[in-house]
Amino acid sequence: MTRPLGFSCTCGAIRGSIDNATPRGGTHLVCHCADCRAAELVLGQPDPAPEGVAIYQTTPDMIVLDSGADRLGLMRLSPKGLLRWHAACCDAPLFNTLARPGLPFVGVHVARLDDPARIGPVVVHSFLPQRDGGARHKGAGIMVWRMLSRMASARLSGRWRQTPFFDPATGAPVAQARILTKAERAAFAPSRG
Ligand SMILES: [Zn+2]
Ligand SMILES: [Zn+2]
Repeated sequence: MTRPLGFSCTCGAIRGSIDNATPRGGTHLVCHCADCRAAELVLGQPDPAPEGVAIYQTTPDMIVLDSGADRLGLMRLSPKGLLRWHAACCDAPLFNTLARPGLPFVGVHVARLDDPARIGPVVVHSFLPQRDGGARHKGAGIMVWRMLSRMASARLSGRWRQTPFFDPATGAPVAQARILTKAERAAFAPSRG
């Protein structure tokens, strides 16, 4: 096993590491969707367009929080949207997860990694804008296949129960989610232009 790869929020109150953070241990992708862009803008980050938001996908049991777990903030762009975790101390976007611990998935913001070179180059671009106004994916087959096999292995081994994002007893997220209203969501990156 390689040594854990560190991450931290901008102010340094939240620190932790990712196990098995290698090019094969997860998937390094760039998401160009309007929701990922809006989430950055809501948190007061620089506009990521047109480059997109770089994410490293793995399973939550690979994430170890060393400090600042009580500073985790949570936001959803809609009532059923992804859980978007950030640092309540300095607003740095940190992770995306699905809504339940039984669906063991996490996307880590690459901008927060101590040494992004260790996860290798970007292998997937999702929601790439096209001239006709649509969007397409590059390398998405790999992404979906790897994500499903990682999730299946975390399920079968019971590793899915190890997660810093959900209460082990209740399965509820460890932070109260702020859910944007439709008007709030519409104010940020409503569409590509
Ligand atoms: Zn912070
Ligand atoms: Zn996205």
